[in-house]
Amino acid sequence: SREVQLVRRPTGAVDETLFGVVEVDVPAPREGELLVRSVALSADPSMIPRLSVDTYAPAFGLGRAVESRAVGQVVESRADGTAAGDWVVHGGGWRELAVVDAATVRRIHPSADIGPEAWLHALGASGLTAAVGIDVVARVRPGDVVWVSAAAGSVGLVAAQLAQARGARVIGSAGGAEKTAYLSRQVGLDAVLDHRAGPIADQLAAAAPEGIDVYFDNVGGDHLEAALDRLTIGGRIAACGMISGYGRRQTGPANIANVIVRRLRLEGFLVTDHLDRAAAVEAELRELMAGGRLRVPVTTFDGIEQAPAALLSLLRGGNLGKTIVRPRHR
Ligand code: NDP
Repeated sequence: SREVQLVRRPTGAVDETLFGVVEVDVPAPREGELLVRSVALSADPSMIPRLSVDTYAPAFGLGRAVESRAVGQVVESRADGTAAGDWVVHGGGWRELAVVDAATVRRIHPSADIGPEAWLHALGASGLTAAVGIDVVARVRPGDVVWVSAAAGSVGLVAAQLAQARGARVIGSAGGAEKTAYLSRQVGLDAVLDHRAGPIADQLAAAAPEGIDVYFDNVGGDHLEAALDRLTIGGRIAACGMISGYGRRQTGPANIANVIVRRLRLEGFLVTDHLDRAAAVEAELRELMAGGRLRVPVTTFDGIEQAPAALLSLLRGGNLGKTIVRPRHR
């Protein structure tokens, strides 16, 4: 079986030479463990800083499989309550086959219309992150004007569509014509901004002449600064991610003092603090998906050796929707 390991830490830009594909022997599962054959591996922005440093999770180990979430089917179970053939979400990382502690996996129940990969996006961490940001942190209400950045990505697409479901007027931003067309035509957002087409602040001002009530931030940097200039009094910022600064020291927006003058609430959050909501959020989002009111396309990379390319694509914006690596089992 093959796995993708981190072989050296970045000294400058993150590139594919940091990784190696290694053939390994897979141990037999011991009591309480499962052998899982992964069909989809996740690539997440939060993995980028962990190539170098500890974040809210420890830095990846050198010479070890890169840690990530994955979905797969149990091949062999040595744990009560789980049998061969069961589907699970697990933390076995960038491996074709993984031996995992059964206590750390989540059983999932894919159906004909909702396949297992959905648990790596809308029905998993991305969906929960979006729901916490929209409902718990920003407390979106009907009639709010909500801007979601990186809106064509995994978290952003769910956040934008949930805000629509809550009755908000939703502005989404993304990079490039393909993504912006998807957001206006398929998702039906009220306004769509293309950060590659010109300064985001000018586009936001044109799309929201009266200002915005909520900013769901996935990007930081110039996007956060633009939001601080458009938020109305009492506005809220759900600080979810700041991908524009990942892998380097972040600097703050020059207009941060607007937080005071406009009595804004800027609140960061981590999905891992809200796992108690996971089941309820999954149930709501599954219903929205089944009803065709929540779409998350998937950008796939075939073969585990493509996992580094998948991760790097997040920084370049090469992905529409969730970015997934599909191992090719031989
Ligand atoms: P996405 O699927 O959204 O992929 C990342 C996207 O970010 C890219 O496709 C690109 O889209 C955009 N991007 C990258 N660099 C820039 C830049 N410099 N300026 C503007 N946009 C940029 O990833 P996820 O949905 O998995 O994650 C989205 C955000 O949510 C990340 O910041 C992540 O760290 C955060 N997150 C936070 C969690 C939490 O618990 N707080 C949990 C999970 C994710 P485009 O082409 O449109 O530019």
